[in-house]
Amino acid sequence: MERRAAGEPIAYLTGNCEFYGLEFRVTPAVLIPRPETELLVDLALERLPVEGRARVLDLGTGSGCIAVSLGRQRPRMEVWAADAVPAALEVARDNALRLGATVRFVRSDWLADLAGERFDLILSNPPYVAAGDPHLSRGDLRFEPASALVAGEDGLNDIRRIVAAAPAHLAPGGWLLFEHGYDQAQRCRALLTAAGFGQVTSWRDLAGIERVSGGCMLETQS
Ligand code: GLN
Repeated sequence: MERRAAGEPIAYLTGNCEFYGLEFRVTPAVLIPRPETELLVDLALERLPVEGRARVLDLGTGSGCIAVSLGRQRPRMEVWAADAVPAALEVARDNALRLGATVRFVRSDWLADLAGERFDLILSNPPYVAAGDPHLSRGDLRFEPASALVAGEDGLNDIRRIVAAAPAHLAPGGWLLFEHGYDQAQRCRALLTAAGFGQVTSWRDLAGIERVSGGCMLETQS
């Protein structure tokens, strides 16, 4: 109770957090899964075959909540999950094992350590908060890893890297989908369009906020 009174998030005190109907283990090495991120899982599932084979990559997997939820929904799919932080990969591996999802984990700085690998879908909930955003000194965010939250002066440093690198790692017709901040949708769509993505779209979360953007590689491009 003392720790809670000092602001420590419930999820770090209990070590658990529910996401997509599953109970995930969380530690202060990973971001606490957010309900709005379930939109990213729904959008990915809409683009993946129910039966056929597909290769999917979750970038910056953290607790593994996105990759494990996808793996549980589509057991025959090849799900990869990458993170730059070994302590996060440990938590994600444990979640995959306990929740019975087959996920291939790799340590990678975004796509830099995945040379030559191509996927039908790449998705990510990257850090997207601007350095100096006042929210960082309020509520749960004070206790979460800065490396999972903050991405440069405008919050778009990591999204820029992911959008620029993704085309070389997508199969023809493959999709890139990522979560972003409440006021970043327009800039994210511009980045996707500039990188040559087609069908560039943003989707609203349950609060009505444009929360996920994405696009697909045209058949002739990749
Ligand atoms: N949605 C989180 C927040 O605003 C940020 C998570 C992230 O940067 N990916 O608290």
